[in-house]
Amino acid sequence: MLNAFPPLRNALAEHGLLADKSFGQHFLLDLNITRKIARLAGPLEGQTVIEVGPGPGGLTRALLEAGARVVAVEKDARFLPLLAELAAAADGRLTLVEADALKVDEAALAGGPGHVVANLPYNVGTPLLIKWLTGPWRPLSMTLMFQKEVADRIAAPVGGDAYGRLAVICQALCSAKVVMDLPARAFTPPPKVASAVVRLDPLAVRPPDAEIAALEKVSAAAFGQRRKMLRSSLKLLGGEALCERAGIDPGVRAETVPVEGFLRLARAL
Ligand code: SAM
Repeated sequence: MLNAFPPLRNALAEHGLLADKSFGQHFLLDLNITRKIARLAGPLEGQTVIEVGPGPGGLTRALLEAGARVVAVEKDARFLPLLAELAAAADGRLTLVEADALKVDEAALAGGPGHVVANLPYNVGTPLLIKWLTGPWRPLSMTLMFQKEVADRIAAPVGGDAYGRLAVICQALCSAKVVMDLPARAFTPPPKVASAVVRLDPLAVRPPDAEIAALEKVSAAAFGQRRKMLRSSLKLLGGEALCERAGIDPGVRAETVPVEGFLRLARAL
């Protein structure tokens, strides 16, 4: 049934739909690409997936083909009629929710454990990721398209320019890997920058919530003044004494401290 659907470009034309930049709309109209993303997120047979921003439904189709049960959250109501046609052919495996993904209760939508797979709107990509990392509903995995620069910051190794707060928070909770690069021309309309897909898998042992809150504080202070030594960037949180309690040299800069070092600083705080 899903195979019977027209190419995405035709579906958009039939419904008179044009991309609206205010919703961060850059569509993937090549099903070979969306199928590859679904494979990178897999195996998904029988799994629940929350997809944010289905738009014309290219990634949604690929997730359904992979056997997932999809809950698709779309803020732009114009896409709902087109997506309803897909839902009608999906044997009850596609649920559509018209909402702002920043405000939804994922636990209620998923009704249990589930994955997140999305080609995210750039303007809300990072806040959504932080919500999924630190919120009450914990995804089993996340396979997410970001602008390349953000993807690199999520997966950055210690020591480089891209290593910062985002890398520390993400990697304290998940393994994070850039699994696919996509040039701007892969999207319709093309954005100004290249994109990349990151796969995040929660670590087996998760730090307690109080430690995550402390980690956010310590990493914000340390990278807020990333050129300074920790004794001075962390001054308000205890500076040298805090570093000593954590067994970290107060004379080093934030970008040289590995995630494990930040976790020790968080515990010391
Ligand atoms: N998944 C589609 C694709 O790959 O072709 C569309 C991706 S497009 C980059 C981002 C999508 O997110 C758009 O459909 C847009 O309307 C939707 N969107 C933007 N902000 C949103 C929000 N806060 N909550 C839910 N959907 C949102």
